[in-house]
Amino acid sequence: MKTVSPQYYNEFCCIAGKCVHNCCIGWEIDIDEFTLAKYNALHGELGRKLKSYIDINGGDAHFILGEGDRCPFLCEDGLCELIKEAGDDLLCDICNDHPRYRNYYSDRIELGIGLCCEEAARIIIRHSGNIILEDDGGDEFYNEVELDFFERRQKIFDVIQDIDTSLDEKLHILEKQFSVTYPPLSLDECVDILLTFEHLDSEWPKLLRNLKNSRKDFNDEFEWKNALNNLCHYFIYRHLCCEDDDAKFCAVICYAFFSLKIIQALTMCSHDFDLETLIDVARMYSAEVEYSDENYDLLIEKLKECKNE
Ligand code: SF4
Repeated sequence: MKTVSPQYYNEFCCIAGKCVHNCCIGWEIDIDEFTLAKYNALHGELGRKLKSYIDINGGDAHFILGEGDRCPFLCEDGLCELIKEAGDDLLCDICNDHPRYRNYYSDRIELGIGLCCEEAARIIIRHSGNIILEDDGGDEFYNEVELDFFERRQKIFDVIQDIDTSLDEKLHILEKQFSVTYPPLSLDECVDILLTFEHLDSEWPKLLRNLKNSRKDFNDEFEWKNALNNLCHYFIYRHLCCEDDDAKFCAVICYAFFSLKIIQALTMCSHDFDLETLIDVARMYSAEVEYSDENYDLLIEKLKECKNE
């Protein structure tokens, strides 16, 4: 079994108290069975508190969030009470793992860090130069379908990481090489699609509406090709799957470019036009679209439909 990850993967370390958009606020935190058993066996004040903040109605155990949708164990200083009291041992799987994700193949696991975490977004976007996938040196045996997939995906990586071609040129090359048809959506139509989705943060639809009202065309001033290449690599690496049929394969490529266009446009619209703004916009886009299975699936279906219209 081989484990593969982008070379920036090990740079990630949670910034905890320094995090502005803490993942312990606003998200439901599920508790896995193994950790739940640990909590149930715990005595003393912490054991009592843990049990009083767990809801298991409806089947899946999760923490009951407090005021402002905060995890009840998130302290005012932004640190976790459970870590303060007992180190990492008492963390449930989701808290230990976030924002890491895994994609599984028959003899390979691909790891990554998710864009909805502000520190992960910073690491992904600020990575300098082409992103190399590193492995742990383990053996692996591909089947033919996987071999074909990895070869096709590498060709996509080669195209999207070419620093000398614009986003439009990259898309054009991929359209020709992989028979992809990017739907002819204007920026307003892209925004309209996103406005029909459920949102997490009330600021998100406001930002999208603002984008409709302020028309700023992309131009050559936007010099952050490296950052956009990294984002494009992230979307493809994370979402393109070996099992995808042709329609899904093309829709995921379109999704990567749709996402880049929205992130780029929102950044261009902001007052503080700098790399930190791009990072924050990408984080928010990821939380709103990518980290909602429902929204992500809707967007993929929409991109399939629009292509056929
Ligand atoms: S969002 Fe990322 S950096 Fe912030 S608390 Fe969560 S894991 Fe840590």
